[in-house]
Amino acid sequence: QIQSKLSEEDERRLTTDMRELYDRLQPTSMVEANRQKLVRKLEKLLNDRWPGHDIRVHLFGSSGNLLCSDDSDVDICIVTPWKELEDKLQPAYQRLDGMEKVVCVSSAKVPIVKIWDPELNLACDLNVNNTLALENTRMIKTYVEIDDRVRPLAMIVKHWTRRRVINDAAFGGTLSSYTWICMIIAFLQLRQPAVVPALHQRPHLRLPKKNGELAAFADDVEKLRGYGDKNKATLGELLFQFFRFYAHEFDYSTYVLSVRLGKLVTKKDKKWHLALHNQLCIEEPFNINRNLGNTADDTAFRGLQLELRRAFDLIAKGNLDECCEQFVFPK
Ligand code: ATP
Ligand code: MG
Repeated sequence: QIQSKLSEEDERRLTTDMRELYDRLQPTSMVEANRQKLVRKLEKLLNDRWPGHDIRVHLFGSSGNLLCSDDSDVDICIVTPWKELEDKLQPAYQRLDGMEKVVCVSSAKVPIVKIWDPELNLACDLNVNNTLALENTRMIKTYVEIDDRVRPLAMIVKHWTRRRVINDAAFGGTLSSYTWICMIIAFLQLRQPAVVPALHQRPHLRLPKKNGELAAFADDVEKLRGYGDKNKATLGELLFQFFRFYAHEFDYSTYVLSVRLGKLVTKKDKKWHLALHNQLCIEEPFNINRNLGNTADDTAFRGLQLELRRAFDLIAKGNLDECCEQFVFPK
């Protein structure tokens, strides 16, 4: 029999502990300011070097979705109508003043360059013209803004994934933060009553953009706020249910999580039942043919299951500290 509720006392304590941890995870204003400085510095470097190409530098990922901590990397998207920059950038980065190139990841879904700015002490991932990432960042931000519980819950789950070393899709073979965030949103959509809606299913709540286009998802935050008010769950209860859901309830072998639809669909219906690395299936909301879970192979999937069950057992006793204890690789 799997515990289905926290004791009142554990729930109260867990909620208080989560609030305290959340306060500690807030980014400091100095690091925030450095991120902005890095944007302006790069914009100047790039436009000085290749004048006349209207090169703009945008932050995305956690720097733009309200889920950033001081140890988050900086995700930067360079936007320019000048397509050649995409090929120029990778070799050129070695020579951009004051920046240290770390590595080019051309095997990534979108080629990125990882650089390190020693002056501002920031690590960053750069890409050119991957504007989809700007939109899915804005979608995450919108989900965060709809209900006040999303931000603390997501920041704490992200913190847990970092501590347990299960948030590295590229090198660790686990899941990216973005995938974890989509899992949190899917979980919140499946609550009864739901804490957040499926933004892609509410086209009437879209704001017109500056260029006259409409977003692919509802983004009228003012009208969307309050959607989850019927669900009275506390933060402690949500964290407990999150781990309960992914450790014990969700039927990984049959279903796919869909943030776009706000519900589960079957692997068979999506024809994903025969795909490689398909134990954890979660649709990318803007490109539903992509499975965000396929970065985890069989071994990684089993490891994730063990971590989720461990977390559930500790949270069921109201023990947040031990749940988020740093994982140390055995010697
Ligand atoms: P962290 O604070 O850990 O860096 P993050 O919110 O920046 O978290 P990342 O995993 O670094 O999350 O991803 C940064 C951004 O890259 C996401 O917000 C998203 O826009 C984009 N992204 C990452 N992975 C994918 C993917 N598989 N498909 C589409 N976009 C992705
Ligand atoms: Mg990031």
